[in-house]
Amino acid sequence: MSTQIDTDCVIVGGGPAGLMLALMLARQGIDVTVAEKHADFLRDFRGDTIHPSTQELLLQLGLLDEFLARPHNDMSRVTLSWQGTELTLADFTRLPTHRKVMTFMPQWDFLDLLAGSASRHPGFHLLRSTQVDGLITERGRVVGVTGTAPEGDVVVRAQLVVDASGRDSDVRAAAGLTQVGSAAAMDVLWFRLARRAGETYPFIQAGDGMIITIDRGDFFQIAHVIPAGSWTGSVDDLDRMRKRVARISPRMTDPVAAVAVSDVHVLRVRLERLRRWYTEGMLCIGDSAHAMSPAGGVGINLAIQDAVATARLLGPVLKVRAPVGRDLHLVQRRRTWPVWITQFVQRRIQGQLIASREPGAALPFALRMLRDHPRLAYLTGRFVGLGARPESM
Ligand SMILES: Cc1cc2nc3c(=O)[nH]c(=O)nc-3n(C[C@H](O)[C@H](O)[C@H](O)COP(=O)(O)OP(=O)(O)OC[C@H]3O[C@@H](n4cnc5c(N)ncnc54)[C@H](O)[C@@H]3O)c2cc1C
Repeated sequence: MSTQIDTDCVIVGGGPAGLMLALMLARQGIDVTVAEKHADFLRDFRGDTIHPSTQELLLQLGLLDEFLARPHNDMSRVTLSWQGTELTLADFTRLPTHRKVMTFMPQWDFLDLLAGSASRHPGFHLLRSTQVDGLITERGRVVGVTGTAPEGDVVVRAQLVVDASGRDSDVRAAAGLTQVGSAAAMDVLWFRLARRAGETYPFIQAGDGMIITIDRGDFFQIAHVIPAGSWTGSVDDLDRMRKRVARISPRMTDPVAAVAVSDVHVLRVRLERLRRWYTEGMLCIGDSAHAMSPAGGVGINLAIQDAVATARLLGPVLKVRAPVGRDLHLVQRRRTWPVWITQFVQRRIQGQLIASREPGAALPFALRMLRDHPRLAYLTGRFVGLGARPESM
C-alpha cells in the first residue's frame, strides 16, 4: 500500500538542520513534512554541543527554559591540556549573548526538544522510520520524494524539497549535485570508557594526537583524533591506540585497556561542499551541502544557521508560491562564505590535532600565541560560539 502526501515543504532528514528548519517553517504556518529514516533520535555519532548562538535562537523561539530543564553541562571556556601545559582555547564569557556558555546535551534530547516544539504546530508532520530513496521530477523540476516506511511506500509531493540528510546524502547525488573538497587529514575513533564516581578529565588532551572527553554521567564518550587511514581495526591498531591514549593521558591507561576492537567505531572525516546547493525545486542544507570536520565542534551550529537562513529567506516565498532557482540561490549566497571560512580554518588546524610530538617538544605556534596572548581566546570564543556569520530569526 502506498501513502500519498501533499505538503508545502518536504525535508529529508531529521537532524539539527532538518528539524530546526521544520520548526521555523511550521511556526510561519507552512505545512512541512520531515522524513527521518530512524525510528528515534538515539544515535551516538554526533556532537553534543549546543553553541551560545543556538541558545540565543532558542531564547528567541521561547524554548530556552525547556532546553535548560533537560540534563546538560555548561562550559564557559574550552580548555586544553598539552603535555601538562593548560591553555584556554576559546573563552565564551564575553559573548554578546544571553547564555555565555557552550552547553553539552545528548543530541537526541536536543532533537526531541525541536520535534516536540514543532509538533505543537498543526502544519508539522514527522514521518519516522521513513527512508527517502528517490526524487520525483517533472519537466526538469524536483516536485517530491519517494520513500519506504514499515507500512509501505510513501510518496510526498511538495513545492520545495530540502535535503538535510547529512554528509552521506544519496538525495543530492540523485539530483546530480556534486561536491568539491577532499577527505580530511584525520579520522576519529569513537568509544566509551568506564567512569568511576567523581572522576574527571580535561575536555581536550593533546600531545600525540588528541583526545576529547565528553562526560555522559555513567561513562565517558571519547573522541580520539588520529591520522586519516591509520585505523584498520586490527589488533595491532588497537594496541597502538591504547599506547597513544596512555601517552596523552596516563590516567586512561587502565580504562582503555578494557576497550576491544568491536567497541571502537571509526568516523572518516570529510571536508567537502557542494558547488551548487540547489536545483529547481530542491535545496541542500547542513552537512548535505557542506560536510564539516569535527575540528572546533562547529558543524551543528552551521547546520542550524543554514536552517535559520533558509526559513527566513524562503518561508515568505513558500506562503505564496513555489520557490524558484533564484530564491534558492539567495540561501547559497548567504551561507557560502561562513562555510568557506570555517572549512579553511578547520583545514589549518587539523594538522595540529593529529601531530605526534615527543614529550617536551615545543608548543605548536597557534597554541603558543594563545598562551602568550590569552585575550585571543575571546576571539576564538566568538568564532566557535557564534560562527562566522550568526543568523537570527
Ligand atoms: C565524529 C564527529 C564528531 C562531531 N562532533 C561535533 C561536535 O562536537 N559539535 C558540532 O557542532 N559538530 C560536530 N560534528 C559535525 C556534526 O555532527 C554535523 O555537522 C551535524 O550533525 C550536521 O547536521 P545535519 O542536520 O546537516 O545532518 P545530520 O546530523 O547528519 O542529520 C541527517 C539526518 O538525516 C537522516 N537521513 C539520512 N539519510 C536519510 C534518508 N535517505 N531518508 C531519511 N532520513 C535520512 C539521518 O538519520 C539523520 O537523522 C561532528 C562530526 C563527526 C563526524
